[in-house]
Amino acid sequence: MEQTFIILKPSTINRGLVGDVITRFQRKGLIIAGIKMMQLDEKILREHYAHLVDRPFFPLLEKSMMATPVIVMVLRGIDVVSVVRGMVGATNCRKATPGTIRGDFGMSGQENIVHASDSIENAAVEIARFFRPEEIFDYEQLTFPAIYSPDDF
Ligand code: UDP
Ligand code: MG
Repeated sequence: MEQTFIILKPSTINRGLVGDVITRFQRKGLIIAGIKMMQLDEKILREHYAHLVDRPFFPLLEKSMMATPVIVMVLRGIDVVSVVRGMVGATNCRKATPGTIRGDFGMSGQENIVHASDSIENAAVEIARFFRPEEIFDYEQLTFPAIYSPDDF
């Protein structure tokens, strides 16, 4: 089943929103396949945000992403990459639709609560960058038969 990669950014840690954000993913019916806390550094951020390293805001972004440890997650579900991007909302929290995580929990373009992979290909690359294979668990959550119909597969 499809997997996506999430970072609960330092803004989530500092504002005490870890539980609220994880609860949203669980209530939606997404399976937590991996979860851990880690301190990001310049090296991993330059890889993760390679598309942004030349942008003027990159030094601020880097500092912001290293301000506290972060929580990284792998979520699993049918079409999970696009489902989670929809739940997260637009990059700038002030423009994100109410009801989305960024739309409900933030006011900043940079301090925007979560990272979520933007494609299936990038999700695979990001999961491999942040997790060892043995840190990702394939298990049958008991609620699974109530979340999906056989027709969904
Ligand atoms: N970002 C920023 N200023 C910008 C664009 C992006 O500070 O003008 C930050 C913001 O924290 C964003 C991250 O860089 O989440 C990655 O940018 P991307 O365009 O990949 O947005 P996302 O996929 O997170 O919505
Ligand atoms: Mg992105």
